[in-house]
Amino acid sequence: MMWRLIFLALIIWCVIYFFKEYITKTNSKETSGNEPTNQKNVEDGNKTEDMVQCATCQVHLPRSEAFLVANKFYCSKAHIKNK
Ligand SMILES: [Zn+2]
Repeated sequence: MMWRLIFLALIIWCVIYFFKEYITKTNSKETSGNEPTNQKNVEDGNKTEDMVQCATCQVHLPRSEAFLVANKFYCSKAHIKNK
């Protein structure tokens, strides 16, 4: 009778132990999976493109959106004509 009680308690302890281990593993996986991606997004946002200045209105804009004429950057075609 006494041995059965001890055996039963041991089984319950094992179930609780593995259940706790499973919860901590899944929680750590979620947090470690999300944090690196967020940090990468922030770094990409800061180092996206070179900023250039319009020679006519001095506005700053990404190099890919600027017009390059005679080694000078312009924010729009209208500012190139106004030169
Ligand atoms: Zn401009």
